[in-house]
Amino acid sequence: MRVVDSVSRAKRSQIMAAVRHKDTRPEITVRRLLHRMGYRYRLHARDLPGRPDIVLPKHRAVVEVRGCFWHRHPGCSNARLPKSRRGFWLPKLRANRLRDLKNERRLRALDWNVLVVWECEVGSTAPLTKRLQEFLSAKR
Ligand SMILES: [Zn+2]
Repeated sequence: MRVVDSVSRAKRSQIMAAVRHKDTRPEITVRRLLHRMGYRYRLHARDLPGRPDIVLPKHRAVVEVRGCFWHRHPGCSNARLPKSRRGFWLPKLRANRLRDLKNERRLRALDWNVLVVWECEVGSTAPLTKRLQEFLSAKR
């Protein structure tokens, strides 16, 4: 299990290197918001599946900020595929989506609570604040 996992992890990080943008603007916005709300977090926890963006160990909680296009936000207009080179984009973006779901499952299996915040949701501060608040104060 461990061996299989490390192989796929190496391959995964290869893909990630090409598509992953660390410290993207939506992520920074969410971090600032959490900070203002009084929450403390760790960043890019290497020891957790998928190296989640924002980890709140005290709450056993993970907040993932995802780009709508790269991570295929279901039903979102920002996730629409370009008209050209679909054969290139589709498998790539599908792989991202599958990897996200797999990491979410693995985190939950390790008893972490996961909240996904989409890029297009970051601009609306009030509803986002409410969601974060509810997520982090939820009884488990
Ligand atoms: Zn979206």
